[in-house]
Amino acid sequence: MEAGIVGLPNVGKSTLFNALTAAGIASENYPFCTIEPNVGVVEVPDPRLDIIHKYIKTDRVLPAALKLVDIAGIVKGASVGEGLGNKFLANIRDVDAIIHVVRCFENDDVIHVDGSVDPLRDVETIDTELILADLQTVESARDRSQKKARTGDSDAKKRIAILDKCFERLDQGMPIRGLEIDNPDDRKILRGFSLLTAKPVLYLANVSEDDLKGESEHVQALKNRAGVEQGEVIPVCAAIESELSEMDKADRAEMLADLGLEEPALSVVARATYKTLGYQSYFTAGVKEIRAWTIPQGATGPQAAGVIHTDFEKGFIRAEIFSIEHLEEYKSEKAIREAGKLRVEGKEYIMRDGDVCNFLVNP
Ligand code: GDP
Repeated sequence: MEAGIVGLPNVGKSTLFNALTAAGIASENYPFCTIEPNVGVVEVPDPRLDIIHKYIKTDRVLPAALKLVDIAGIVKGASVGEGLGNKFLANIRDVDAIIHVVRCFENDDVIHVDGSVDPLRDVETIDTELILADLQTVESARDRSQKKARTGDSDAKKRIAILDKCFERLDQGMPIRGLEIDNPDDRKILRGFSLLTAKPVLYLANVSEDDLKGESEHVQALKNRAGVEQGEVIPVCAAIESELSEMDKADRAEMLADLGLEEPALSVVARATYKTLGYQSYFTAGVKEIRAWTIPQGATGPQAAGVIHTDFEKGFIRAEIFSIEHLEEYKSEKAIREAGKLRVEGKEYIMRDGDVCNFLVNP
């Protein structure tokens, strides 16, 4: 699961990226992640892991991981290669979701590239670059498909029809997310184009400390705009997150309480990213480890098992599943089994958020 942080220069991206990724992770637990300077892997805090751990003793607890990529350098003209533009746009192509940091704090000491604080204009500037980049992608894909269509390739004709729809929408200055395509095959074709504006977006409104509780005019404006494309807006204060990230646990708890906040932004951002991407978690819990796994909502038992190991999807026989509520009620897996509350689910089972699972698979 990978999210790219974008935004205009000087809006607080690096401050936030550094604060969110400050805690770091034990990278040996996440061997699939190569760590580069602009990449941080953060654990997704999940209180349900603590509940499971209360009843099942284990050597280690492994939360799910979210990879954050700091994609700097989007300025006006990025789509035509201005300021290393193309390289950064290519970086966005690789992520699952976009976290768009928007400056909502007023501070004369921090220069705004366009001279004033205006979140809607800023969002538009970035969107325009992404839309222009997508237009280029769509046009060249259409050229390629048209050549193929002339040789009688019927798939190419299908692609052209979808590309035409994309072109029309982008040409009106609208992002691809929100484009309604009912046919699942067509949706798959669309995904294959990896368009930047098709990726789900989450807005982080970087507000000043005073605006954390109330809702400033800037945040309200952003929320109205985000609503149109089903995006969520989370107010954060990068300066405060930066301070929090440098504190020990006790001081952090005290400062959060003083600010009237329940948790650091990382928890909120991680949860919102899950939601934006339509993800949920299930857990495995044994003597060696308790672990959270990430799956798309609607995933079946075999698909969930496939996240642990690709072979498990094919080899899936059945799953034994219990809920965290039952664990709290009966206190152990054994007691849950004895009470007849352990469910046995087959290949068609649709996973529920928070299932605790044992998979039986053919080796
Ligand atoms: P980036 O270019 O988007 O990565 O922005 P930076 O994170 O480098 O921040 C640009 C400047 O804004 C720095 O001087 C930060 O200290 C300042 N800054 C970032 N976030 C905040 C904030 O929440 N409040 C205030 N007052 N200043 C901030």
